[in-house]
Amino acid sequence: MSRERDRERMVARLRERDDIGERALDALAAVPRHEFVPPARRDEAYADRPLPIGEGQTISAPHMVAAMADLLDPRPGDRVLEIGTGCGYHAAVTAELGADVFSVEYHAPLAERARERLDRLGYGVAVRAGDGREGWPEHAPYDACYLTCAAESVPDALFAQVRPGGTLLAPVGGATQRLVAFTVGEGACVRDRTDHGGVRFVPLL
Ligand code: SAH
Repeated sequence: MSRERDRERMVARLRERDDIGERALDALAAVPRHEFVPPARRDEAYADRPLPIGEGQTISAPHMVAAMADLLDPRPGDRVLEIGTGCGYHAAVTAELGADVFSVEYHAPLAERARERLDRLGYGVAVRAGDGREGWPEHAPYDACYLTCAAESVPDALFAQVRPGGTLLAPVGGATQRLVAFTVGEGACVRDRTDHGGVRFVPLL
């Protein structure tokens, strides 16, 4: 069966859940997930589960990327900071929503491969190898930031790089994690905190 057909089916199954908006579903429908997984895993690319991508890391499951894209809901032209590029799939989905994406990845080989892949597929995502705990101050302020790895608490530098009124979306916790959306106030304080339920992400290193 064709990759396009597999992808349409994946999106149709996500639509049936009835908890993810059309904008996010359209973005997932546009991104060739099979290009982001190792060649030996291509046949599994449209199953709704994480897959290994090297360095002990995984590409997030499609429903998790969709749910986060739906919650973040960036407007075209928004500047978005991503922590944890991995293979670049989630960044491509955010770019499909019209955002200018700046992404930081801890593992240099993953950052390098993601940069090449995103370039080849025509996504204008900027990727930096380094510690995401520091964010990417040179391009701040951002309209939004999200983490694709979980921490007990979100590093202060990330709040400081999001504009007042912007959103920071992060899995928070250790053995048990919650997906939390923070609205950033003046002076990088938290104006609002909305809990979106239990999740399971790899740890922030
Ligand atoms: N969004 C990715 C998911 C990758 S999993 C995708 O679509 O494939 C989380 C990623 O966070 C891993 O690649 C891991 O290496 C990275 N990571 C963990 N700690 C980090 C840190 N301190 N700074 C930057 N990236 C980090």
